[in-house]
Amino acid sequence: MQKSIGYAAHGLKSSLVPFSFERRDITPTDVHIEILYCGVCHSDLHQVRDDWGGTVFPVVPGHEIVGKVAKVGNEVKNFKPGDMAGVGCLVDSCGACSDCQEHLEQFCDNAVFTYNSPDKHTGGITYGGYSNQIVVDQKFVLQLSDKLDPAAAAPLLCAGITTYSPLRHWQVKKGDKVGVVGLGGLGHMAVKFAHAFGAHVVLFTTSAGKTEDAKRLGADEVVISKNSGEMNRHAKSFDFILNTVAAPHNLDAYTTLLKRDGTMCLVGVPDRPHPSPAIASLIFKRRSIAGSLIGGLQETQEMLDFCAEHNITSDIEIIPIQKINEAYERMLKSDVKYRFVIDLASLKSD
Ligand code: NAP
Ligand code: ZN
Repeated sequence: MQKSIGYAAHGLKSSLVPFSFERRDITPTDVHIEILYCGVCHSDLHQVRDDWGGTVFPVVPGHEIVGKVAKVGNEVKNFKPGDMAGVGCLVDSCGACSDCQEHLEQFCDNAVFTYNSPDKHTGGITYGGYSNQIVVDQKFVLQLSDKLDPAAAAPLLCAGITTYSPLRHWQVKKGDKVGVVGLGGLGHMAVKFAHAFGAHVVLFTTSAGKTEDAKRLGADEVVISKNSGEMNRHAKSFDFILNTVAAPHNLDAYTTLLKRDGTMCLVGVPDRPHPSPAIASLIFKRRSIAGSLIGGLQETQEMLDFCAEHNITSDIEIIPIQKINEAYERMLKSDVKYRFVIDLASLKSD
């Protein structure tokens, strides 16, 4: 076992504090990565606060991991020491079920998440990327082009794939009218991807102060969602809406903006249910409300390659790990531009 350091929350009301633990020694198929950067996802905050139930403390969050390969097992084919590598939300799955066979490992009933999942190697639970190193099976390690800035690429591993995947699944294409709800970590990536796919992008925000940024990021129009007059102007006009909001809210305000046969896909996972949507507005225009979960490994690699080709990364604010609790408070106030990324070099100064 290898002594490792990171930051963990030890209980429901506790802040994240320095934490020592052990990583497994590499097996023949493992890649050992020295972590350089880790993005801060709202899911980290949800799990530290146990918003979804089931958090096992101490929890070391972090699933937007970028680092340098330090060692590889003797059966590892695609990585060598010194390579840049990424790890997202998944570190294992059964490999045999239909989801795994179809490269949709995120839906595998036995998927192992990067943190807070049972760890078959240690018998404990998995620990995430707010730490100095990680050991991951080669199948769950992504290749990172040296064209991508490593810190700004870290959020692609969750915020990137979680927005890329539904935009691809619902086949967003040139000329489509696409709404993005919420300009946070996921939302700003959704704006960039929908714009890159040629859609007419409308950003819905509760923060009027984000209007100029949204346009710079690729939105063609910005709607302040609290203004019902502005909302009504877009009634029955959207092909697709991607809703990234992390809190319960009135979904009817958006379903009524969909065209006949339009879909609103939810990716935000609030701690409490949304108020029930009006079913009639779905029935009378055959509209759908759907959901989507991150993306499989193959699609995550495709997304990273797309980003390298089209020069897409996240807009980030780099923080030392010692500022993580403050970053969570700012995230709760929608005050993120547009993803915090932890520089793990700061761990050494604790
Ligand atoms: P984030 O950076 O905090 O952004 C969320 C944005 O939602 C905020 O910036 C804000 O944008 C808007 N918002 C917040 N509270 C709101 C409210 N009460 N009403 C309306 N809008 C509100 O969060 P994130 O990291 O993008 O994550 C968003 C959600 O997706 C979280 O629930 C997270 O757990 C979930 N998630 C899901 C998946 C998946 O696979 N499905 C993957 C990753 C994350 P404005 O200021 O523009 O209004
Ligand atoms: Zn995430």
